[in-house]
Parts: sequence; structure tokens; C-alpha cells
Amino acid sequence: MSLPLRVAVAGAGVFGLASALRLARAGAVVTLHDPGLARPNASAVAAGMLAPVSEALTDPTAAPHLDLLLAAQDYWPGFAEAYGLRLDQSGAILLGDAARLEALGVAAKGLGLVLPDTAPKPSTLGLGEQSAGLLVSGDWRVDAGELTRLVQAAQDLGVLLETEPPRAGGHDLLVIATGASRDFQDQAPELASLTPIKGHILRYPTLTYQGPVLRGPGAYAAPGRAGLLVGATMEVGEGREDVDLQVAAGLAARADAVFPGLAGQVWSAAAGVRAATPDGMPMVGRSARPGVILACGARRNGWLLAPLVGEVVAACALGHEPGPWAARLDPRRFEA
Ligand SMILES: Cc1cc2nc3c(=O)[nH]c(=O)nc-3n(C[C@H](O)[C@H](O)[C@H](O)COP(=O)(O)OP(=O)(O)OC[C@H]3O[C@@H](n4cnc5c(N)ncnc54)[C@H](O)[C@@H]3O)c2cc1C
Repeated sequence: MSLPLRVAVAGAGVFGLASALRLARAGAVVTLHDPGLARPNASAVAAGMLAPVSEALTDPTAAPHLDLLLAAQDYWPGFAEAYGLRLDQSGAILLGDAARLEALGVAAKGLGLVLPDTAPKPSTLGLGEQSAGLLVSGDWRVDAGELTRLVQAAQDLGVLLETEPPRAGGHDLLVIATGASRDFQDQAPELASLTPIKGHILRYPTLTYQGPVLRGPGAYAAPGRAGLLVGATMEVGEGREDVDLQVAAGLAARADAVFPGLAGQVWSAAAGVRAATPDGMPMVGRSARPGVILACGARRNGWLLAPLVGEVVAACALGHEPGPWAARLDPRRFEA
């Protein structure tokens, strides 16, 4: 009988956790290493939108990857059920003036989609002039607070949590899922192609909102466990995790313009750093270095992609066929 595979996973964000969970379920002995276990990472501050269509329509980097993002979303019902996560399937409404909505409608048609017109329900957010929108019924959401449930599920499956780095010789395989960090670049040269993109997000603790995510120009509003969430900035090249109050105030001002009911309300800010590859899709799979697997570069869609990423990582680790999306995620695609 062969011994079980020993895997060290570095990074307890949603990519590292999805990988650790899938590997542990397959019988591997998994240790999850993260010196920042007590600190909120990008996964913990995210809005948790699982939104292939809205992302493809509002983010030119995501548009060419709609098929992959939709495929990733298909993994979510099973993933949520396996770990007891609540999936919010209320959809999203794209807001804007007539010109923006027309442009979005044309872009949707270009992707083979028809988005029905909808009138967002009046709410405490106030919608000002924007009384019309386009309904994206296929967008879902999960609360990023569920990250703690994934940590618990991993421990229940026998995954060991450590704040110390993996020890040389202590594992058969190393999975690097360290977000925007390049700490492991000497073991995985592919990490050199990552760019940090900082994001601020606001929480309005006195406002509760349930319903579709409202995505306006310059700001979105989403339900959150401890208050309404308003996001998010995209600060390309910025790798520090601290909150910059001036940047957060700028986001609040943009949000006030979309949702006048927010003006004067109390908010607090959080920030996280996303990692991006040159083509906007993560690098997931075997490194050019033997014994190393990568799961990095989630950019804006780390929650959406995580269950698929866990599947690809586990298949690569166990020597199984990694499925139809693995080639598009192969870390070696950026080699010179
Ligand atoms: C404001 C904001 C809003 C967002 N909204 C959404 C959204 O609505 N939907 C969506 O899908 N995505 C969203 N994202 C993106 C998403 O959060 C990220 O893509 C995803 O969380 C990245 O996950 P990760 O596991 O790769 O990295 P992280 O969550 O950053 O985790 C990386 C972990 O690696 C650890 N680490 C670092 N160095 C080391 C080391 N040397 N050894 C071991 N561990 C190490 C860190 O401590 C950290 O815990 C948002 C991001 C931000 C910032």
C-alpha cells in the first residue's frame, strides 16, 4: 500500500482553502501554512460576488473569459452544499443612465445574452435618477465571512493549520496560494509575473440591504452580514494592505453619487490586495519547478474561481486529468 501524499499548502485565502479541502477529501495529508492566519486577507474583505456575467460586461479584462467564469460558477452549488455555505441567488442589477444601459445591453448581445429591463425596488440606498436597470439573474453571491466556515471544514477534514513556513523535506508537494505575495518566488519563478491590485471596500454598519447586488458606474452595493457593503477600488500596482482614508472617502463620494441615500451615513473601510496575471486569469497548476503547484493571481474573481481552482490543483497533485480549463490556467503560459 502506498503512503498518502503529503501536501503543504501555503496561504489560507480562498484559493488555498479550496485546494486544501479538495486534497484532504481525496485522502492527502494536508498542512495549511499561513503566518497571517489572524489577519483578514483579500478573501476575507471581498464582497463575495459570484458574477460571471456582470464581470464580463463591466470589466474588459474579464470579458474574453466569460466561458471560463461561467464554468467556474457551475462548481458553486456543490461546493456550497459540501461545506454548508449559504448561496445568495438574488442576481444583480446593472444601473446607470440611458446611455450606459444601452451600451451594456449592446455588449450583452455581443456575448449572446439578453438582459431584461428592470426597475430596482426603492430602498434606503436611494437611487436618485437611476430608476431603471438591467437584470442579471444568473449572478450569485456568498458572504466572505464564510471563509471561517471553510477554515473549520478544513480542520474537520484533518487539515493542520500552521503559522510557520513549510519545512524542507516535510512534504511531497508544495501548493503556493499566497495571493499577491512573492515570498515563494525562488521556488516558483512564475510568481514574478504577478501585479498587486489593492482594493478598498466600505461597510455601512447601520444599513441593512437584502436583494440583488446593485452595480452602478463607479460603485456597487451588496448585502453584507454586518452591514451594507460598497465597493470597490482597483489600485493597480499598490501592494500595501493598509486602509488609506483618502482613497476610501473618494469611494464613498462615488457611491453617494450612485446611491444618494448613503450620503451622511457612517461607514468603515477595509482593504485587500488582489494579485493579477498579465491575462487576468489565475495561474493554477504545475510550476516549471518540480514538486510545486501554483494557485495564485485570482484578481477580481477569486471567490468565483475558487472551487474550480481546488479541482485543478487536486487533479495536478494526484496525477489525474485536470479537465478542460487547465490549459487556460497553466502557470507556464507566461514563460518567455
Ligand atoms: C475589495 C475587494 C472586493 C472583492 N470582491 C470580490 C467579489 O465580489 N467576488 C470575487 O470573486 N472576488 C472578489 N475579490 C477578489 C478576491 O477577494 C480575491 O481574488 C481572492 O480572495 C484571492 O484569494 P487568494 O487565496 O488568492 O489570496 P488571499 O485571500 O490574499 O490569501 C492569500 C493568503 O496567503 C497568505 N500568505 C502570504 N504570504 C505567505 C507566506 N509566505 N506563507 C504562507 N502564507 C502566506 C496571506 O496571509 C493570505 O492569507 C475582491 C477583492 C477585494 C480586495
